Formats: sequence, structure tokens, C-alpha cells
Amino acid sequence: MQSLAADLRQRAGGRVIDRAEIAEFSVLKTYDPPLAALVGAVVGDVTRYGKFLDLVTAAPDGGTLHLVTHLARAGWLRWRDEMPASPARPGKGPLAFRLVFADGAGFDLTEAGTRKRLAVYLVRDPADVPGIASLGPDPLAPDFTPEVLGGLLAGRRTQIKGVLRDQKIIAGIGNAYSDEVLHAARMSPFRLASSLTEADVAALHAVIVSTLTSAIERSSGLAAADLKAEKKSGLAVHGRAGEKCPVCGDVIREVSFADSALQYCPTCQTGGKPLADRRLSRLLK
Ligand SMILES: [Zn+2]
Repeated sequence: MQSLAADLRQRAGGRVIDRAEIAEFSVLKTYDPPLAALVGAVVGDVTRYGKFLDLVTAAPDGGTLHLVTHLARAGWLRWRDEMPASPARPGKGPLAFRLVFADGAGFDLTEAGTRKRLAVYLVRDPADVPGIASLGPDPLAPDFTPEVLGGLLAGRRTQIKGVLRDQKIIAGIGNAYSDEVLHAARMSPFRLASSLTEADVAALHAVIVSTLTSAIERSSGLAAADLKAEKKSGLAVHGRAGEKCPVCGDVIREVSFADSALQYCPTCQTGGKPLADRRLSRLLK
């Protein structure tokens, strides 16, 4: 997300908005101010709050408008130097939202699949977006110390995997990078957060910072269109069930949940023992 924000800042900064178009009605979560308030607004900064991307614009009336998007799992942003002249039409395609600048460039927000979760908000204050005000600390901020991480984990009798991907506890790690962090830390995703020793917390903190930093370094300078491929190629275990662990060569396994899955290496993370997959064992009964 950090790279996407940097990429978009470079491309969109200083451009004047010509129009915003909705192709999927459920995508827009706010109605005041109306989308038309963006016409003539100038993009200043592009920043990030956890998994939210914030296009900060100076509106013609002198106010500041924030076009905030949450791409969700299947959402993507595609920049184009020349947008089609015809308006975006609601339909069955992946297009959800389109922003066009006065010079003809712009971007589409698309979402694959049938579960429509991509969200767009137009607000005067990013804290008005549900989810932003309640975000946990940014793990790459200088004040995110091992002590801060320890404080977040202390007393939580929940699995470390769930804690790491919970945006309200720590912002911005998410499902994919929590798998990567736990693999690099050689820690079981089912380990209880409250059971981590001070040394475990220090090691986990170091891995969180190094994993996220290297992800950003790998993808910095890549255009948004290339980021998705780069993210996948940089992952050791996430999305790679059935493949070989790049560290030890064991087969990467998966645990499925109702609407997500985690991947891990038994040899690296769970003493060689596969974790219980409730969905799978239910099927086998
Ligand atoms: Zn391994």
C-alpha cells in the first residue's frame, strides 16, 4: 500500500480532477459531500492509513476533500495516461470507480469476483471514514518499538495470526504479510499472543519491520500495474500451498476459514506437525 500511495502521488500530484464516475453502485459509501464536489479539485498528496489510500485534494471552494479507497482483497487500481472518453457504465465487469483528470489521464478501481467489498469514501476529514479512526499503530513508524508491540500482544488469548492481521490492533500488515512474518519468525500462526516471551516479541518485531521494509523496497518504483505480480513473487509462503518452502523444502500447507486461508510451513513453524484444518476435517468426517 505504501508503494501504491507513492506511485499514485507521483502520477496524480498536481493534476486537476475532471470527473469521478461510478460503475458499481455499492462502491460509494458516502453521499455528503457529493462526488461532483471533486470537479476542479487539485490533487495535493496521496497518503495511506493502514489499507486505506487517501487522495488529498484542494477543492475549488478552498476546502480539502479526501477521496479515500479501501481496495479490499480483490480490488486494484489501474492508472492510464489516456482514459476512455466514453463514461463508465454500470455493468457486470470488474470496473467499480473511475477518476479522470482534466489532461485525460486517470485511474480505474476494479474488483474481481462477485463479492463486492471495494469501498470509496469522499470526506472532509479522513477520520470520518469508519475503520480509519480505529486503526492500530503503523508498524513502520519510528515509535513502533518492541515494547509497543509487547503491549499490544500482552494478555491477548487469541492466535497470533489473527492479531497480526487485525487492522485495529496493528495497521497495514494484513493477511498475506502476516503469513510471511510468521514464517520468517518461525512461529506457529495458532500460537497464543499472550504466550510470547519478551525475546519472542523482540524477534517478531524485528521480522515485522524487515518483512514490510523489504516488501516496500522491492516494489518502490514499480508502477501500480506491476505491483501485484511483484507482491506475489516476493512471498515465501502466502498463496503457495502445495509448493516447497524456500527455506527448508517442506511442502507449504494451508488452513481454510470461512472467507480466508492462511499458509505456513510445518517444518519451519509448527515442529513438523500440520495444524488442524476444521473445514477439511469436517469434510472428512
Ligand atoms: Zn520451511
